[in-house]
Order: sequence, then C-alpha cells, then structure tokens
Amino acid sequence: MSEVLVLVDHVDGAVRKPTYEMLALAKKLGEPSAVFIGGSDKADDAVASLKKYGAEKVYVVDDAEIKGYLVAPKAETLQQLVEQASPAAVLVTSSAEGKEIAGRLAIKTESGIITDAVDVEEGPVTTQSVFAGNFTVKSKVTKGTPIIAVKPNAATPEEGDGAGTREDFSPTISDSAKKAKIVASQPRKASGRPELTEAAIVVSGGRGTGGDFDPIEGFADSLGAAVGASRAAVDSGWMPHAFQVGQTGKVVSPQLYVANGISGAIQHRAGMQTSKTIVAVNKDEEAPIFELVDFGVVGDLFDVLPKATEEITKR
Ligand code: FAD
Repeated sequence: MSEVLVLVDHVDGAVRKPTYEMLALAKKLGEPSAVFIGGSDKADDAVASLKKYGAEKVYVVDDAEIKGYLVAPKAETLQQLVEQASPAAVLVTSSAEGKEIAGRLAIKTESGIITDAVDVEEGPVTTQSVFAGNFTVKSKVTKGTPIIAVKPNAATPEEGDGAGTREDFSPTISDSAKKAKIVASQPRKASGRPELTEAAIVVSGGRGTGGDFDPIEGFADSLGAAVGASRAAVDSGWMPHAFQVGQTGKVVSPQLYVANGISGAIQHRAGMQTSKTIVAVNKDEEAPIFELVDFGVVGDLFDVLPKATEEITKR
C-alpha cells in the first residue's frame, strides 16, 4: 500500500486538530505518514500523538537550520520526501500557509493541486468546496502526485494506533529557500478560547451588537466556542481583523455556527455557509441570513443570548 504524506500542522510541537483530521482521510487512500517539521526536542510527544491518531510512520525533520524561515524550506522538504517515498498523495491544511506550501510543492513536483478539499476517496477523488462554499465538486489530479489542501473540520479525527515508526529525515535546503525569514513576531493575547478556524462551535457578532460583544463572548464561553465577527463589526473597530469571518476574513466550517446581529451578506456567507448547523439571532425576520439557517430566532440578541447562556450554564 502506498504512503500518504500528511504535513503536520503544529504550534511549537503541539499538534493541531486538522492534522488528526487529515490522518483520518489519509487512511482512506493508503498508509498515513506524518511529516513533522519542528524542534527534535518536541518530536517525541508529537510522534506519540500522531501514532495515536493512526500515523504508520512519522518523518521527523529537525528545523534547527530552517527555524523562522517561511514556507519555501517546507516545500523543498516535502519535494524531497515525495521523490523518496512516491506517495499516493500529499495532504496539507488548507490554511494560507498550507496552500502556499501546496502551490510551491505542486510546481516543484510538476503535479496537480486541489485546494479546499472536504473529503477524499479512492482514486484519489477529492470532494472540493468551490465558489466560496456555494458548490462542492468531485476533482481528480491527473498529473504527478496529487497535492491536496484539506479544509479544517472536513473529517472527524479517528483514534486507533498506527505503527508510529519514527524516521529522521534531513533535507537539503537551498539558499534561495532561505531568503525570506520571520524577523519578529508578537504572540496573540491568549483568550482561552479555541482557534477560530478549527473550533467546533463559532459564535459571531455583527453590527447588531452595536459594539457590545459581552453577550456574544458570554454565550461563546458557555459553549466552549470561538468568537467571530462580521466585517461591519471589524471595520467599526469593535473586534480585530483576526476575528473576521467571510470572503476577506477567515473561512470557518464548524459543527455549529451562531450568527448574532448579522444580516447575512454574500461576503459573510462565503466564510461560514459550509458550517454543519447554522443558527441566527436577528431582530429582523426578513434578514437574508434566515435563508440559510437551520434554526432562526427572531429577537433581540441582548434578550436572547443572556437567556440562552443562563440556560446552558445551568446544565
Ligand atoms: P449589517 O448588514 O448592518 O446587519 C446587521 C444586522 O443586525 C441586521 O440584519 C439587523 O437586523 C441586525 N440587528 C440589529 N440590531 C440587532 C439586535 N439588537 N439583535 C439582533 N439583531 C440585530 N463582510 C463580512 O462579514 N466578512 C467579509 O469577509 C466581508 N468581505 C467583504 C468583501 C468585499 C469586497 C465587500 C464589498 C464586502 C465585504 N463584507 C464582508 C461586507 C458585507 O457586504 C456586509 O457589509 C457585512 O457583512 C455586514 O455586516 P453585518 O451583517 O454585521 O451588518
């Protein structure tokens, strides 16, 4: 059975959920092999967790030489692994970074690329979300090694031990790949909430909040959810841009999306309409958001959310 390479998405060695989701998808195509590029002191824990979610093999690439560089060294590393392992496919997270790595890798390996994948099956045939989530299509790469960028929340992680065999890999990184480097970075203030793009539940607020996000945040915390915002809320300076959901913000696809005081403009929908269940609270029963919801509450968010928060907190 061919290997399927999965580029591990992690923060300082802590493996992020989209990686486990990709391992579950990789199992459908062959033997999942995770590629961990990071500090070797962090590798043991990462290997253990990747094994737990089905990795048969884990390539560990010590990043001492390339730490802080941007995506090019990762693309070169994957290129060399593709040449060595001839995998059935390469899966990366469909994030800004993942898509850039995928694009560079596709050029280097003269392969086809599919982005925003939400499922894979034998072939590999990929179900792909297109036109801002308005359609899904089945796509197949016909040249080279299929490079597939997978949307977070596309699959459910599956626990089940793989062999987890560790193989250290030392790529040769070219000087040109080391031309761009991160020179400074500022950690985001920890909110204790899940990351927006990988949260199972997202509670968002729009112009209807009038700038008061307390009910949104209170409700989000009662559900262990991430907080999102419409562009109107971000442009008004009520929330930072990192919270914006939509065409020019983040694309989320949680199990549950709750839109509060958000009208449902096409550009907002582009970032959330593939959510599994959508709930809206809006005081205008004609608001376009009600066209796409599973459950709608016509009401004032300042009445509805505190009551809902109280009920949930009681349970
Ligand atoms: P509004 O459209 O003003 O809606 C506010 C809603 O709140 C109304 O439906 C109102 O009935 C309701 N409301 C008011 N008070 C209450 C209350 N007390 N309780 C309950 N409901 C209440 N938008 C995005 O969100 N994300 C994007 O990424 C994005 N990208 C864009 C890119 C381009 C190129 C352009 C042109 C626009 C983009 N927009 C984006 C903007 C988008 O078109 C809308 O203007 C924006 O989404 C509106 O935000 P909103 O729904 O919060 O505000």
